Amino acid sequence: MAEYDENNIFAKILRGEIPCDKVYEDEHVLAFHDIAPLRPVHILVIPKGAYVSIDDFGASASPEESKAFFAAVSKIANEKGIAGPGFRAIANTGDDGGQEVPHFHMHILGGTPVGAMVSG
Ligand code: AMP
Repeated sequence: MAEYDENNIFAKILRGEIPCDKVYEDEHVLAFHDIAPLRPVHILVIPKGAYVSIDDFGASASPEESKAFFAAVSKIANEKGIAGPGFRAIANTGDDGGQEVPHFHMHILGGTPVGAMVSG
């Protein structure tokens, strides 16, 4: 598993070195609007802990961090009105998964039908 890069852009957001358009925050979680939204709702949910990927998070996060993370996803989806009609939650992981920012994040995409998963 890759080593955590303290200079990745989400680490800088967590340290307050660069701004974000915040949606939600608690002790373990921060969520903010994606800077290049792909759908009417496109929110990134990140743990405050230094986890490279969902693989890293799943292996090493505490029960409290895991619970807070998924509770935040649910809370945000409900508050944004997309839990009912549905949404897509994606965690791109590693090189083959197309992950660009090496701090675990879940994309929440909704506000319009996102369609079926496609290959490629
Ligand atoms: P991924 O390819 O899964 O690593 O996704 C990274 C996401 O981070 C992309 O959708 C970017 O648009 C988004 N992103 C990059 N920089 C920022 C930023 N400063 N604020 C909000 N979103 C960002």
